[in-house]
Amino acid sequence: MSTIAQEIPQKDAGKVRYVDVILPLAVPGTFTYALPLDGPPVVAGMRVAVPFGRGRKLYGALVLRVHEQHPGYAKVRPILSALDNMPVVLSEQMALWERMASHYLCSLGEVMIAALPAQLSLSSETRLVAGPNVEVDVPGEGRSVILLQALEDRHVITMQEAGELLGLKDPMPVVKRLMERGALLLEEQLKEDWKPRMAKFIRLAPEHTSETALHKWFDQLEKAPKQLHVLMRFVELSRCLSDAPKEVEQAKLVHASNSTTSVVKQLITKGLFQPYEREVGKPSDESLQQPLPELSPAQQTALDSIESGFTAHDILLLRGVTSSGKTEIYTTLIERAILRKEQVLYLLPEIALTTQIIGRLRRRFGERIAVFHSRMAQHERTALWMRCLDKNAPEIVVGARSAIFLPYRDLGLIVVDEEHDTSYKQHDPAPRYNARDMAVLLGGLHGAKVLLGSATPSMESQHNASIGKYGRVDLLERYGAVQLPVITRVDLRDSAKRKLMRGHFSSTLIDSIQQALAKREQVIIFQNRRGYVPVWQCETCNWVPECDQCDVSLTYHKQQHQLRCHYCGRHYPPPTHCGHCNSPRLRMLGFGTEKIEEELGELFPEAKIVRMDQDTTRGKHALERILTAFGQGAVDILVGTQMVTKGLDFDHVSTVGIINADKLLHFPDLRSHERAFQLMAQVAGRSGRRKQAGAVIIQAQDVLHPVLELVVNNDVEGMYTRELEHRRAHGYPPFTRLVQLTLKHRYEEKVATTAGILATALQAGLGDRVLGPEIPIISRIRDKHLRRLLIKLDRNRHNSEKQFVSDTIDRVFGEPEHRPVQLVTDVDPM
Ligand code: ADP
Ligand code: ZN
Ligand code: ZN
Repeated sequence: MSTIAQEIPQKDAGKVRYVDVILPLAVPGTFTYALPLDGPPVVAGMRVAVPFGRGRKLYGALVLRVHEQHPGYAKVRPILSALDNMPVVLSEQMALWERMASHYLCSLGEVMIAALPAQLSLSSETRLVAGPNVEVDVPGEGRSVILLQALEDRHVITMQEAGELLGLKDPMPVVKRLMERGALLLEEQLKEDWKPRMAKFIRLAPEHTSETALHKWFDQLEKAPKQLHVLMRFVELSRCLSDAPKEVEQAKLVHASNSTTSVVKQLITKGLFQPYEREVGKPSDESLQQPLPELSPAQQTALDSIESGFTAHDILLLRGVTSSGKTEIYTTLIERAILRKEQVLYLLPEIALTTQIIGRLRRRFGERIAVFHSRMAQHERTALWMRCLDKNAPEIVVGARSAIFLPYRDLGLIVVDEEHDTSYKQHDPAPRYNARDMAVLLGGLHGAKVLLGSATPSMESQHNASIGKYGRVDLLERYGAVQLPVITRVDLRDSAKRKLMRGHFSSTLIDSIQQALAKREQVIIFQNRRGYVPVWQCETCNWVPECDQCDVSLTYHKQQHQLRCHYCGRHYPPPTHCGHCNSPRLRMLGFGTEKIEEELGELFPEAKIVRMDQDTTRGKHALERILTAFGQGAVDILVGTQMVTKGLDFDHVSTVGIINADKLLHFPDLRSHERAFQLMAQVAGRSGRRKQAGAVIIQAQDVLHPVLELVVNNDVEGMYTRELEHRRAHGYPPFTRLVQLTLKHRYEEKVATTAGILATALQAGLGDRVLGPEIPIISRIRDKHLRRLLIKLDRNRHNSEKQFVSDTIDRVFGEPEHRPVQLVTDVDPM
């Protein structure tokens, strides 16, 4: 009965075939199982149910290879079942996973977890709930009723419990079939609104689609004017006699013809109309919807350079100043690629994936586009994944970083917009990948062209272009005679001395905002810190309230009247007395977006002000609502964190204010200057409209800082040269590759000892290119003490050096005394 017991002894090797699988677990390497001789056909890319570990837990593992080589150890367990009858992961994807695991020093299992939608990644611990179609009958699975009945009594059952209830060692195939039929859901799916959005559509019955047939109907319906009217609207809406007929939703037809559903039904009964249902968002056969806009001469030149550039280089960097119309260029390239029958991946930072850009693309490409991002429900992600494997795979995928994981068959072009954006980097959990870099790799695996675009390209990409690894195209003219903004610096120290400050606003900035508002123009205010007042401080002894669990000062949030830890999310009531000397005299230091919003309200009581930061954009549609309101002119002033700097295209912004540039410049990080430049140049780029240059006011203590000078001149080249010298002098990327190791433990001595031993072991091979162990600025998070090592790898030997790092880690952490210390490995940290 139990297949698990039939382990296959080595002497029988040769008759049996084996599979190397990846388990959805953070364990290194792959694992070998045997395929039963009489079992179902299994090929690479399919999932199989396998037992693993002492508890013989079940996992839906992915088959990486099928072979005939006995792995050499005594007992090889067989797989329990095949979960797929065709591959759900393609060979290029597996190649990408392997490259990712080795590049980012993580396990294949971790990559698999990140890559596969949750529904495709099953284990004993998978938690199941009843789905919308509990009534469903699974043919040949009488026992599934037991499962569905059990779910009526209890809310959740695990895969393991499902197995016990069914009396099956391997319940995965049954569970999988029930999931596919909507009778079971993952527990996490329940929180999402699980409704495939179905809509009713109307089409002409095939025998009535010709012009002559329709004329007959027109005559026939003369005595039924209501029906005639509906038919005429249908012909208009569907353009059914043209080359590119469109689908018509029943509700839209009723609305457009000012009619009722019953009139439509009469035409269905007469046999003219045929109703059908389909999921909205699925592709239809509409062809390209809109003619391409005329490119400006500068855009045309850039486009030509890109197309010729692609004959010499697979990867191109497009530097296009803000509002130069990069999107138009991408769109033209995308259209040409799909005409060549190639698939296109268009990557955007998550925040830029709003209705604005998606709307623009949809108007252009209709349903040929599929969108993929992290706010999507699991079932939508799974559905898109399966569709990508299908014949009707989307021709264009627009997505945030995780879209690199989808299955692509004919990828011909990858566009990475805002390639410098830090949100391409996944910080937690592993794999800590940069989707821009993985897009380059993915392009290589598919032989696709890759276009990296930005107004403020990253140091790495500029360097790759300057050494000829990438081609480069520049577009330095804004579209439609829009001028670059005029940038003014305001000396905060001087303004304070001359009593020109009101709160955090200089008179220059106030005047500029006032002028904009008087002309009904919009304003953006950038303050890179959320909350009200970051810290409270004792006036007597300088005590500052800190989080109990983390070594960070707490931020005051006025709306909730709370102190919050931005690292662990814990909150506390505001203190009434100093925690050290008990003095009641506390003052506030520093300021965040909430405080700036309040000051703006006092300065401009008539203006409609909206704040955009992590706190105001938590809800599913909150961000969307803010951007729409601002785009429609319902908001006068938008104040926010770096969210306001990203890829938004608004027509009526004439003033941008940066409250305090010093905080950006003096952040202790190797990239702080690069990032400060990018943020300021990007936010400045939001200002300015046709025929009138916008104004940008940068307030700073240190107005003569060289980076501010470069921002004022929008000097991307100058910034690159300056920064490159600094990087060269200190041996930082792009001259080296960095690996950052963070060690964590509850006890400080423990983490310090392990970090010291690891550092010494690494220094034995890499010498002074191993920095630390250092106590990070924030030295304790969630009640764990931290130590950090930074390793600079030789660019030319980074693979072998990385192997050394990896082996050393394994050796040190192989010792039982170091095992309890947690290690976070971050390759190419940002
Ligand atoms: P970028 O991404 O380079 O900042 P966008 O692509 O958002 O710039 O273009 C800025 C604005 O100019 C948009 O409103 C866009 O619709 C418009 N635009 C750019 N190029 C053209 C064109 N060739 N024809 C019509 N409008 C254009
Ligand atoms: Zn905390
Ligand atoms: Zn005190």
